[in-house]
Amino acid sequence: MNLQSGTYYWASTLPEVPSYPALTTNVTCDVAIIGGGSSGAQCAYYLAGSGLDVAVLEKGTVGSGSTSANTAIIQYSGEKMFTSLVHTFGEEYVARHLKLLKQAIDDIETASRRAPIDCEFQRRDTLYAASCAEDVERLRTEYEYIREHGIEIDFWTQAQIEQAYPFSREAAIYSYQDGELNPFRFTHGILQYAAAQGVQVYEHTEVNGHHYDRELQRMIIRTKKGHEVSARYVIFAAGYENIEIRNEKQASFVSTYTVTTEPVADLSSWYKRTLLWETARPYIYIRTTADNRVIIGGLDENTNIPEDRDSKLLHKKDQLITEFNRRFPGITVKPEYYSAAFYGGIVDGVPMIGKYDDYPSSYFLLAYGDNGTVYSQLLSRIIVQEITEGHSPDLAMYLQNRPLLVKH
Ligand SMILES: Cc1cc2nc3c(=O)[nH]c(=O)nc-3n(C[C@H](O)[C@H](O)[C@H](O)COP(=O)(O)OP(=O)(O)OC[C@H]3O[C@@H](n4cnc5c(N)ncnc54)[C@H](O)[C@@H]3O)c2cc1C
Repeated sequence: MNLQSGTYYWASTLPEVPSYPALTTNVTCDVAIIGGGSSGAQCAYYLAGSGLDVAVLEKGTVGSGSTSANTAIIQYSGEKMFTSLVHTFGEEYVARHLKLLKQAIDDIETASRRAPIDCEFQRRDTLYAASCAEDVERLRTEYEYIREHGIEIDFWTQAQIEQAYPFSREAAIYSYQDGELNPFRFTHGILQYAAAQGVQVYEHTEVNGHHYDRELQRMIIRTKKGHEVSARYVIFAAGYENIEIRNEKQASFVSTYTVTTEPVADLSSWYKRTLLWETARPYIYIRTTADNRVIIGGLDENTNIPEDRDSKLLHKKDQLITEFNRRFPGITVKPEYYSAAFYGGIVDGVPMIGKYDDYPSSYFLLAYGDNGTVYSQLLSRIIVQEITEGHSPDLAMYLQNRPLLVKH
């Protein structure tokens, strides 16, 4: 899949990138993880120290897929409001989902702290602003829902927003304890953590086939270079390319754009360097980095054709900068890196674990959606719990055939 194009900031922040050998023999293991992006690394992280033999197979190099384009805003609130998800899944389901999302952010923080590489994880508050007057009530209902579930959150008036920021909105949700990280360093960091505990990692090892050996009760994974990996369990963590391995009709793709600026001299007018996003669709979202750059993303386009996506990149870069200038006229920014990328979603707004009869003993990690990193953490934990404990009480919530109140 032609995932993305442009120039990427994150890889430039790690001067000595760890590297791993290619697979040159047949191997037998308990768990094979296909994909060495952040999702594969998150699975490896949870499996590390479990006593199981684990092998990660990456067709290119670690962190070079969507992970390198990820803006890595770490939030529990997603594009579909929780109040809207309740109509699809019911109250009990959404309450549990919200709890698991919060837990996933805590787990990302713990994983970042354990990693031998600084992942630049930082807790940040979020301002989720109403883009127009009509969205204020929707936002207020969402705020009340989240607050009722015991999460610290505030509803800001126009006056409060104007006091803290150089721009104005009619209202906003102000949430606490979200986060940001460096996804490239995070992926390498937690994979190094896992490798130090015996997880085998292979780069330049592309998987291109499989069969199930019923006698052995094992998946036999074949690599492009002709080697075989015999595994009791397989986790497909190939990001958006999972869909090329096994189609899932509930996945959809759009195109999205990001700009990373040169470091900015003075960010003091940016209240607490909060994460910023809004109710407009398509939306703009903004964050800062550890070395004082600004990342502006969004302006999604409804196309999954790479040429279409890429033809708009230069224009989108300019538009994103203009949108930033509107919000922070006092901060001068100069774009340094910019990219266009595919961005996956699941139609009902909740990420998914695919378990299919034609892939026995396998899990497809489909952490698609705007909070992909958080979703991956959540789903990885459930999959690993299934494998190591034989059962996860939360698995059914995320399977491709999870129960819906209404059909899409
Ligand atoms: C522009 C953009 C902005 C984003 N912003 C955010 C954000 O702010 N917050 C957030 O939480 N999420 C965000 N996301 C989502 C986030 O990037 C993804 O959820 C995350 O990076 C996915 O990581 P992954 O490991 O699943 O996929 P990838 O990083 O794509 O990793 C998959 C790996 O599998 C390998 N692979 C594929 N096929 C094979 C094969 N056959 N054999 C072996 N290896 C294979 C690939 O080479 C790749 O390295 C954003 C995504 C994009 C594109």
